[in-house]
Amino acid sequence: MTDSIPFPQGHWPTLEPGWVWLCGAGPGDPGLLTLHALNALRQADVVIYDALVQEAILDWAPQAEHIYAGKRGGKPSAVQRDISLRLVELSREGKRVLRLKGGDPFVFGRGGEEAQTLVQHGVSVRIIPGISAGIGGLAYAGIPVTHRDVNQSVTFVTGHDQSGNTPSSLNWKAIAEGSQVLVIYMGMKHVEQISRALLDAGRPESEPCAVVCSATTDSQQVLETTLARMPADIAASGLEPPAILCVGRSVLMRQVLDWQGMMAGDPPRNTDPLGRGHPAEAS
Ligand code: SAH
Repeated sequence: MTDSIPFPQGHWPTLEPGWVWLCGAGPGDPGLLTLHALNALRQADVVIYDALVQEAILDWAPQAEHIYAGKRGGKPSAVQRDISLRLVELSREGKRVLRLKGGDPFVFGRGGEEAQTLVQHGVSVRIIPGISAGIGGLAYAGIPVTHRDVNQSVTFVTGHDQSGNTPSSLNWKAIAEGSQVLVIYMGMKHVEQISRALLDAGRPESEPCAVVCSATTDSQQVLETTLARMPADIAASGLEPPAILCVGRSVLMRQVLDWQGMMAGDPPRNTDPLGRGHPAEAS
């Protein structure tokens, strides 16, 4: 990669003193940052980042103070409020503040609440979207979240509610019936209940599932399993969060699209995993 090519011509916003930019850092691989994120990193006085943000990304902001605001898995919301208020404080000190969150800031990341708190305190904000783990992370595992032969809709679900329990408010029957592909964030802790709820709602035991851990990072691991076996297979594999669970036949596409495996020299396992029997692009 070359350093000598400037950003594309156009209007690159200036991070002004007192502003907070709430920015997605993507699922892990620093290459999945947006140019707006990079532009922000270059200007920030202070970067407040989450546990899921790869520290290598901070190397793009050597001039800035780096503040870790990590919290994992359903910890008390007071911590969240502290982070939001810290952002308000920094803005009042006239800092150029970059709030960097894993994936996309508005996807299960409490970015909405953070931004709202800022606005309620009169702080000017800009939102920079990022690649969410449930899309980009699955792509790194060779799993397309939509595929013409599999689904017309995809549902993003959280496996936790605010209390850290399986979301009791979720209508698992409606979710199970409503979409052929489910992408579940924060699902590891309650995978047993999630799998049971989906089976009870009529999804087949043999339905293909994938568990993609630390997606897009050097330690990415992928487990292919079925809905019935998923909890036991996760326990046996020792896989750890963060992980995205994907339920649905699009998981089969990994047999032909595991591009990382192919890069490492593995041949595709099956070039027609959905059994179309004719070329992919034939209608
Ligand atoms: N805003 C983030 C999601 C935050 S919630 C986004 O858009 O991706 C945290 C959950 O995201 C984790 O529990 C996990 O389910 C998922 N996640 C985030 N990064 C991940 C990664 N690199 N690999 C797998 N799952 C990830």
